[in-house]
Amino acid sequence: MAGIFSKIIKGEITSYKVYEDEKCYAFLDINPNAAGHTLCVTKKEVDKVFDLSEDDYNHLMQFSRKVALAIRKAIPCKRVGMSVIGLEVPHVHVHLIPLNSMEDATFQNKQSLTPEEFQATVVKIQDCL
Ligand code: AMP
Repeated sequence: MAGIFSKIIKGEITSYKVYEDEKCYAFLDINPNAAGHTLCVTKKEVDKVFDLSEDDYNHLMQFSRKVALAIRKAIPCKRVGMSVIGLEVPHVHVHLIPLNSMEDATFQNKQSLTPEEFQATVVKIQDCL
């Protein structure tokens, strides 16, 4: 059965989509550490990042870099952090997180955004892609 991220990629579940190419899909994390927290997901539903083929892994990293550079331009922050976890959703994804403090990287201090704030964040990042 398709997992939640595959349903998002197919459009069966709505998401705040930032960008996609033939192999990857980027959208805002619904429970963000900080405004602009974005997930870059492989379209192939693979559980663990180091089980990706070398080509798919390299593609995901290039894709994530492109999105991260746009986040860095769009969202005021000290830097954009990157994590791969996958304990909640077993479908490869890179977290890109605008960081101002170590707390922003801990996944303990969540921000709540309105739908309008999520949508405005998407537009800001897309304008910098
Ligand atoms: P992890 O699998 O531990 O790397 O975390 C999965 C991430 O996916 C969490 O940060 C969730 O907030 C996020 N997430 C789960 N469901 C959705 C969804 N429907 N839309 C956007 N983000 C989601």
